[in-house]
Amino acid sequence: MRLLIIEDEVSLAEALSEILKQNSYLADTVYNGLDGLDYARSGIYDMILLDIMLPGMDGITLLKTLRREQISTPVILLTAKSELQNIVDGLDAGSDDYLAKPFSSAELLARIRALSRRGKSYMGDIISYGNISLNKGTMELNCENQVIKLGVKEFRIMEILLSSPRQIISKDMLIEKVWGIDKDVEHNNVEVYISFLRQKFHSLNANVQIKTSRGAGYYLEAEHD
Ligand code: CA
Repeated sequence: MRLLIIEDEVSLAEALSEILKQNSYLADTVYNGLDGLDYARSGIYDMILLDIMLPGMDGITLLKTLRREQISTPVILLTAKSELQNIVDGLDAGSDDYLAKPFSSAELLARIRALSRRGKSYMGDIISYGNISLNKGTMELNCENQVIKLGVKEFRIMEILLSSPRQIISKDMLIEKVWGIDKDVEHNNVEVYISFLRQKFHSLNANVQIKTSRGAGYYLEAEHD
């Protein structure tokens, strides 16, 4: 497991890094918000320890930026006990937990373990293509700050198409995966749900289309792909 430490207080940052490494975690450290954002965007981290008061960009703005970009890496905020409002802002901005300074290494390690156990189902695993993304935890389809909640069947169809965009998925495959092989489902049931999804793409201004490959099935194609 690889963690990113974003903390400008050098002695604290070094202590955190040391604790993590002693406990078999990989850890990288950056000392300001802008580097922090760059590193966090790489998507290679399993968790981020994020200070709030940082030069360059503060932790709350950094976190909001990540979440807006659909980067769902779990974040633990590091905050002074007196900064209650920051904690509230941080949780609103999409942090998963916080630690009030000063904290013990045992407390830090316990929080990291707890958060990694919650894993992706808690965060809502997100898959994206073009300007749309699908949150597997909430079944929401997002497109540039607009959100539509999908029904269960729409969601499952979308999940299958998004998992391998540009690859043709047959109607039979969709029926098997969405309705199950025992179910008596006709191809036009699939067509109905595809048309629901197309309407939703249209109302979201998605730059992705569900294309029909005649006789073969459906696939996703982004406009500038
Ligand atoms: Ca600080």
